[in-house]
Amino acid sequence: MSLKEFRIDVDADGVALVTWDQPGAPMNVITLAMMQELSAVIDRIASDDAIKGAVITSGKDNFSAGADLNMLQGARVEFEQRAAKGDPEEAMRVFFGETRRLSQLYRRLETCGKPVAAAIRGLALGGGFELVLACHYRVMADDGATKVGLPEVQVGLFPGGGGTQRIARLMATPDALQFLFKGQQIKPSMAKTMGLVHETAAPGEVIAKARAWILGGGKGVAPWDVKGFKNPSGKVFSPVGMQVFPAANAIYRKETYDNYPAAKAILASVYEGLQLPMDLALQVESRYFAHILRTPEAAAMIRSLFISMGELNKGARRPKGVEKSKLRKLGVVGAGFMGAGIAYVSAQAGMEVVLVDRDQAAADRGKAHAEAQIDAQIRKGRATAETKAALLDRITATPDYAALAGCDLVIEAVFEDPKVKAEVIARVESVIGDDVIFASNTSTLPISGLAKASSRPANFIGIHFFSPVEKMLLVELIIGRQTGDRALATAMDYVRAIRKTPIVVNDARGFFANRCVGAYVQEGHRMLLEGVPPAMIENVGRMAGMPVGPLALNDEVALDLGLRIARATKAEAGDDAVDPDQLALLETMVEGEGRLGRKNGKGFYDYPEKGQKQLWPGLAKLQKTRLDPDTLDVTELKQRLLVVQALEAARSFGEGIVTDPREADVGSIIGFGFAPFTGGVLSYIDGMGAPAFVALCDRLAATYGERFTPNAQLRQMAKDGGSYYPKLQAAAA
Ligand code: NAD
Repeated sequence: MSLKEFRIDVDADGVALVTWDQPGAPMNVITLAMMQELSAVIDRIASDDAIKGAVITSGKDNFSAGADLNMLQGARVEFEQRAAKGDPEEAMRVFFGETRRLSQLYRRLETCGKPVAAAIRGLALGGGFELVLACHYRVMADDGATKVGLPEVQVGLFPGGGGTQRIARLMATPDALQFLFKGQQIKPSMAKTMGLVHETAAPGEVIAKARAWILGGGKGVAPWDVKGFKNPSGKVFSPVGMQVFPAANAIYRKETYDNYPAAKAILASVYEGLQLPMDLALQVESRYFAHILRTPEAAAMIRSLFISMGELNKGARRPKGVEKSKLRKLGVVGAGFMGAGIAYVSAQAGMEVVLVDRDQAAADRGKAHAEAQIDAQIRKGRATAETKAALLDRITATPDYAALAGCDLVIEAVFEDPKVKAEVIARVESVIGDDVIFASNTSTLPISGLAKASSRPANFIGIHFFSPVEKMLLVELIIGRQTGDRALATAMDYVRAIRKTPIVVNDARGFFANRCVGAYVQEGHRMLLEGVPPAMIENVGRMAGMPVGPLALNDEVALDLGLRIARATKAEAGDDAVDPDQLALLETMVEGEGRLGRKNGKGFYDYPEKGQKQLWPGLAKLQKTRLDPDTLDVTELKQRLLVVQALEAARSFGEGIVTDPREADVGSIIGFGFAPFTGGVLSYIDGMGAPAFVALCDRLAATYGERFTPNAQLRQMAKDGGSYYPKLQAAAA
């Protein structure tokens, strides 16, 4: 077979250098074509007498990003179509055969009888790293760009190419489980310590070292295929094993609340596999893999966190025909909490930043934030004194607006006051070019209103960051009534340059993310007022899949901010727009008790200087009724917390505030941590089906009030079988 993906060069010593270099692709990924060719490569290594052993490497900067998830998603859809045609057993047989092909190939490589070494440069992830693990010797480049890992669990899958079995035989079981559960990318020195690779070397030497291992008499047998092999943690059924697995089960429950079948499959696969010889163990892993690939969680997570996120990052929503903008110099006005963060991430991305505040001291404080951030990076070994000096050199802190001349984009992050913002807009526009885009980071003020202060509203847009700017990956781009395509395209190019994900949102109170997450926090308040024990509210939030409970989240955002927003909403949208009991609760907390949240060390929780936060015992006296937890329906409490957010998203979609389900879903997961296993707010509804979701809303509305009443679009969808995603995909979700 003529090879396109691989090159094989056999040297005079009989070492075959196998270079994987997928044609026309930026990264090597595992596809059907790759698997076919790898099979031929293995045959050649095994059967060619001129080959003593082989070194596998990549012809690209990275080793491999793993399997093509579109291919895996496709296998699942094919299975469903075949099964629907009436022979589910046959469909399953074909599906199982297809989904374990990679695992069998890797096993063939491992048992081909000749020594095979991997020379790794750049990322080796997922199925790519599993290929490496099937080699008998692994040499890893000792540089900042090279990392290995099995991140499948982050998209609802688990390593099905032998990863669970080989990892569990390479290191102590608790370490193996932790590595598999977390899906982290591991740096060279740590990979060596963990036993993931045998050797690290300078990038230019990895191939030579791998070759030297073969010529030095390296054996083509994996340790687990040598008679007498012992698992690093001993037998599963042994006193040590019995200490590992019950604790692992407990950790699994604590970390996932049983929401992630892939994590459970890892545990089961390791537990069962370690009791079997390798070939049978791999078969067990394959069975779990075939099962996990068909779970709604995997389909939903692959779609939102891989496919949709990739599409959005590639500019799926970028206006067509607008030339890519060159963003060399960025202006940031307002060097406070947000502005300082924006300046830092932009300078990190290589931009020159002019950071303006009211006086030099305030501007300097903003720049000092960048210094503190980069110092923290240095402490973690992620930056050097040189990168720090260069970064700080790129930030000019000044009170002088004239320094903004020559900026390609200016973002304001001054006080949330329309008058202050209007003044700033006028001052900035007097110094920047007519065609420069101006963005506001307002979190509550309508962009169309602010744009009235601009002499060029077509160039005016909202770029809404989330805090902390350094960590949060989502940015909402807010389109005002007159915002033009060039403003949107430029804002998108900027967000991509700082490696965040943009979603496009039309101008409305709370935009998209804050509106949904606000509903979550408010539902927590309501539960508290109903008399649900506070600890139960928080636990139920996490059990539903949220990263923190609603009360803890409110503390992070600050209770006084919540109170200010509630009052502003009431003033603008009328008395009915805000629940009076809730307003009273916030007034008591903020004005009666002086509890502002984490920022002053007391909110719904107490934050002792040392030790963990604790729910404030005084909450009990704010509850007129106290319900007996044993009488409460946990499933319903969880549903309330998710439904209230999903419904708010459905309303936003119905009102045309978000217009693309991918943006709503991706935005909800990376913006406010909406239960990732659901695939996001709208996938949650599609996963249940509109009729079931509407029925659930109606039931909740009858008990808890109108906030659960579905919008007209949802009712229509329930009636005519509609869904947010096209039906074929929805069937796969
Ligand atoms: P902040 O009070 O920390 O910072 C505001 C900064 O603007 C201060 O340093 C102040 O000196 C400066 N400033 C005020 N008037 C100015 C002027 N005329 N010229 C130059 N500088 C001026 O506030 P923040 O939390 O950073 O919020 C800033 C903006 O970001 C607001 O619009 C807010 O709604 C928005 N926002 C905040 C968050 C958040 O979590 N804090 C999240 C998203 C968006």
